[in-house]
Formats: sequence, structure tokens, C-alpha cells
Amino acid sequence: MRSYVLVTIFLLSLWFILPVPLPGEELPLVWIVSTGGTIAERINPATGAAVPAVTGADLIKAVPDLAKAARIKVFALCNIDSSHMTPEIWRKLAVKVNELLADPEVKGVVVTHGTDTMAEGAFFLELTVDSPKPVVFVGAMRNASELSPDGPANIMNAVLQVCSEKSAGWGVTVTLNSYVNSAWYVKKTESTNPQTFTSGPHGYLGYVIMGKVEQFNDQPRSLKFPVPDKLPTVIPYSVFAGDDGSLIRKAVADGAKGLVIEGVGAGNVNPEVAAAIKEALEKKIPVVITTRVEWGGVVPAYGDVGGGEYLEKIGCVLGGEIDTHKARLLLMLALAQPDFTNEKLKSYFQYDI
Ligand code: ASP
Repeated sequence: MRSYVLVTIFLLSLWFILPVPLPGEELPLVWIVSTGGTIAERINPATGAAVPAVTGADLIKAVPDLAKAARIKVFALCNIDSSHMTPEIWRKLAVKVNELLADPEVKGVVVTHGTDTMAEGAFFLELTVDSPKPVVFVGAMRNASELSPDGPANIMNAVLQVCSEKSAGWGVTVTLNSYVNSAWYVKKTESTNPQTFTSGPHGYLGYVIMGKVEQFNDQPRSLKFPVPDKLPTVIPYSVFAGDDGSLIRKAVADGAKGLVIEGVGAGNVNPEVAAAIKEALEKKIPVVITTRVEWGGVVPAYGDVGGGEYLEKIGCVLGGEIDTHKARLLLMLALAQPDFTNEKLKSYFQYDI
């Protein structure tokens, strides 16, 4: 009898740990849109390497407790390693997510995605999701064949985050290993360790643990674009010592509609690269300057030929704290708008440092 009472008390306590509604209340409806990645990969016995092998529906089966937190529906968009992702696939993902969020019954969406390009994929949706409902990108650093895959717990935490009122207003986030990162500043910083996503000096938005969501910060910014039918070609390019600018000239000759030039330091390049940039600007090709430096962003601190102040003066837009691959997607979306101007572009890249 005593153990029966203890078990009953434990089960009742679950309602205080998991945000599950009391009997009779309907669970929130959460869509999971699967795209692939390590979270959906297994080891190929022939090679010993991970390959896409798990469907979206299988992912959910690996997390039985999900049913206590939400009604789950699954949409499989694709099943690819995210090193194969394209802006066009993210465009289609944005269209789908907006469609799902338009249903008043839907609480939010979890996107399962590879971690290699998750940061920029989440940023693309941060710029194109037209609903304030939560969208949580989640993945895994250990695949389903490994000793302790991190996918199931990450999916559970992502669904709990969507269901939590604390996440309202966070926009699109990247949530792995309990940490909630804003799509604006999140970066993948470890190639194999589960604690790979961080937002550096900007800090985490929050933390998901024991079924609860802790909030540390608000979403830093909000900037939205309608999803275009077509995305223009924008080439991201990282300068190097001794760079003569010829590859920048080739990108322009090959039809690039915009350039993102990743400089060194606070956004500096050598005079030969500066000359190639100037030629692109004269052809009315917008140029955004980013930096290869992890944190701190681009500022007009240096005035010699090729310094950030010089580049801004000749018409480049300094990219602030947005990294190169996110800046590329932002420039693609900006160029796809009929009212594009360099002034508008400049306003999108705030110097928020
Ligand atoms: N290569 C994988 C991907 O990006 C890595 C991962 O998901 O952790 O799809």
C-alpha cells in the first residue's frame, strides 16, 4: 500500500516538473519539421561513418515522453546532412513554417537540422518567419548509433521550450545541450563536442532543464522580410594574406549581385582587394564587410587604404556583429526586396557594439 501511495505522489509530482496540463486540458500542438543532420543519422557499418538514416517519425519514437508535453505532428522536408543545405531549401522551409504557424491551434515549430549550417539556417528563418510564435532549431552532435546520442534530450527540450510561455518573444532560437541561443549571434564553435553552440559575449537567451525554461535575456533584435520567390546570387569571400583581388573580380564577372567580404581584424583588407571592391561598387554591386574574428564585429577604426573607415567611405556597408554566412543571407533577402537601397542595407547591419 505504502509503495502505491509513493508511486502516486511521484506521478502527481510530474505535473510540477513537466509543464503538462492537468487531466481534461488539451496538450499544445507542436509541429516538428525534419530536415536531416546527425540527429537523423546512423553509422554505416560498411564505412563506420554517419549517414542520413532516421526519418522524422522515428525521431519522435525515440522520445516517448514527448506525448506528455504536447500533441506532435511531423513534416519531413528533407533528410540531408546540413553541409548539403542551400538557401533555396531554407526558403522552402520558411514558406512551410509560416504556413504551419498560421494555424491558430499551433503553439510553435521545432526544426530538426544538421549542426554544420544550423546557425545560418536559423538566422534565415529569424528574418523570414512572420509569426511571433516560437521556432526552435535543434540537432545533435552524436548520432543515433553512438553510446549516448544527444538528439532525444535535445528534441524534448526544444518541445518544452516551444510549450513554455517563457519563450514567447524569443523568435527563432538554436537550442542544444540545454542552452538557448538567439539566431542572431549563435555560432557553432566545436566540431565534435555537444556543447558547441554559443553566442559569445551576447550570452544565452535561456536554459532548459528538468522540464523548466529559465530566461536570461530577450531576443536582441527583430528584422523581417517577406519570403521572396527567388534569391539573388551573393558570394561570401574570405580575404587572405597576399590576396590580389582577382577572385573578387571573377565573382563579379560571373554575375554576383552582391558580395560579402570577410576581412581581418575590425574589418580591414589590403589595397589590392580594396581596388577590386571599388570596381564592384562602381558596377552598383553592394558590398558588405564582415570579419573573420569570432566576436566584436566590424567598426570603422582604420583609415588607411583597405581599412574599415576607408571601405565605408567608398560605399561598403560595414556588417557590425553579423557573421559572414549570416550577412550573405541577409544581403540576399535585402536584394530580393523591390525597394532595396544601400541606405536600407546599412540600417539592417547595426553597429551594436
Ligand atoms: N554534419 C552534420 C550536419 O550538419 C553535423 C551535425 O548535424 O551535428 O548535418
